[in-house]
Amino acid sequence: MASLPPRLSHFAQAEPAFIQAKSSFLTPGHSTQAKPLANSAPTAPAPRPQQQQLVQNNRRRTEVAPAPVVSNEKQPAKRKRRRADSNSPDAPYVRLVSITDDDPNAMDVEDVDGLKSRNFQAFDRIKDPMICCIYCHDVGPYIWTCQAEGCGNPVCVGLSECDHGCVNIFSDPETGNMSVTEKTFMCPRCHRDKGLAMTYNVQGYSVRQDFLYRNRFPLLAIFLSWSGFESPFASNLIRLTLEEHYRRDKSRLHIMTRALRAGNNCPQAMTPSFDWMREFNYEGNLLIFVNTHSDTKTGNLVVSGNERNPTSIPIYELLSKYIGDHNLRAATHAISAINKKAGVGPCIRGLVICACGSTGRLDDSALLLTRFVKEDILDFVLTFSGVPTMDPVVVPALNRFIENVYVYGLQMWDALEESFGEDRHALNQSPVFLSFAEMKTNGDKVRQRTVHTRVLAYSNLRDGRPWGLDIYRCLSAACNAPAYNMVFHPHGKQYYGKQWVQTKIKYECLECGVVQKAISCPPWIHAARSQNYGRVWYEWPLSAEHKRDIGIIC
Ligand SMILES: [Zn+2]
Ligand SMILES: [Zn+2]
Ligand SMILES: [Zn+2]
Ligand SMILES: [Zn+2]
Repeated sequence: MASLPPRLSHFAQAEPAFIQAKSSFLTPGHSTQAKPLANSAPTAPAPRPQQQQLVQNNRRRTEVAPAPVVSNEKQPAKRKRRRADSNSPDAPYVRLVSITDDDPNAMDVEDVDGLKSRNFQAFDRIKDPMICCIYCHDVGPYIWTCQAEGCGNPVCVGLSECDHGCVNIFSDPETGNMSVTEKTFMCPRCHRDKGLAMTYNVQGYSVRQDFLYRNRFPLLAIFLSWSGFESPFASNLIRLTLEEHYRRDKSRLHIMTRALRAGNNCPQAMTPSFDWMREFNYEGNLLIFVNTHSDTKTGNLVVSGNERNPTSIPIYELLSKYIGDHNLRAATHAISAINKKAGVGPCIRGLVICACGSTGRLDDSALLLTRFVKEDILDFVLTFSGVPTMDPVVVPALNRFIENVYVYGLQMWDALEESFGEDRHALNQSPVFLSFAEMKTNGDKVRQRTVHTRVLAYSNLRDGRPWGLDIYRCLSAACNAPAYNMVFHPHGKQYYGKQWVQTKIKYECLECGVVQKAISCPPWIHAARSQNYGRVWYEWPLSAEHKRDIGIIC
């Protein structure tokens, strides 16, 4: 995989200060600021070391020298607008919204209060996570934690008739003895896992539910939405959901929103958010959510212009211009180091591109996204690989996926199967692309990282998508008709349950009239683990050999 686009090197290869020089980043006495890149976004000032900031923990203590560059955040200088490059997001296309100056304090920074309170002491900002009952999210004095090894689930306990607990443990009215005490308490889930009967009363509805665990890491969530959408529905829904989950732990969630539009790229507006992460040594999760259209031919993302005359750029350029190389490099680099050791983490760096399907569908674009994960810049990239993407249809499942990863702490592939895999509306509208790093602790020292890139799809013969492949073609070489001109049916013995994928198919081609029978599922197509039929996944992009299996001649 030699063809790394030149601009991705901003985050990875060619720039030694980033991925390759991880050791120097962690060396005591080294500035945490890497040098600015020669061709970074024109509006980016030299990265400004945080004044008098002490980064402390057991492993290192880095003292950053006072900044030589004067902060311009309080009195933003009037910026010269550049008009030279017609491919730049600054290009003077028809603007949908009038442009004001790029003052980071005045632009669409919704977290204005957060910015104003930046002078607070670090310890005022991040609070310990609130311990609440795993079943009902109640807080209060009667929360007992499970004493079984490696568990620690908190459960609310009712100790007398007038208490309401998810678990009731009343003392014996005659002896006054209790069957369980706070020191011997074991949660319902552990009882079930060990096959033991519970000696107390369970009031809660679900005893063993999967979504018990909470990801306790603080979360920085950045939302970049194209201003051409009438309402940033996707960003709004996901943002509100996260805010609700962090309602009791507000200090542990930092949200930053910014519109994608001409002249609005201002990476220094993101710097306070990344400073927030630095205060806890980046031991947190990062979500970058991009919501826009994409170019059908390249998969590039629209950042300015309007529906008729859009300007699109590749994702690495978008990140560079809107988030800033120095911000992204510092955070992704530090989290990479955290994830290599077995102690803390893993912390998750995710990119969700909610855009038209070309971004995940086209080979080059898909390979580019995979690079972010392979190069250890991100831990997952999710996007769509259909043709159009209908936000109202897919966003509920997308919201659940993000919840599964960032709130419930599920593994990324499990999180996908338990969101899109369970939502036929969403998966019938568009297959989903996920490149992700599987992280496993090996022994007790290091964490192993394996990268997979897959598409999850819904097999729908009636709609002309065998195994979710609308790119299927008539297998007779002289014809090669597209799937929409073929009629598919199951053929022969029908299998059910987990074996459903063994059912063969037949088709009749409406162009050449051929009838092909007993076509079995190619071995590279896997049934997804789901309680429902029809969910499949395969490695993506398809190899030339795999394409040949489904009638695509390269
Ligand atoms: Zn409870
Ligand atoms: Zn337990
Ligand atoms: Zn679109
Ligand atoms: Zn044909």
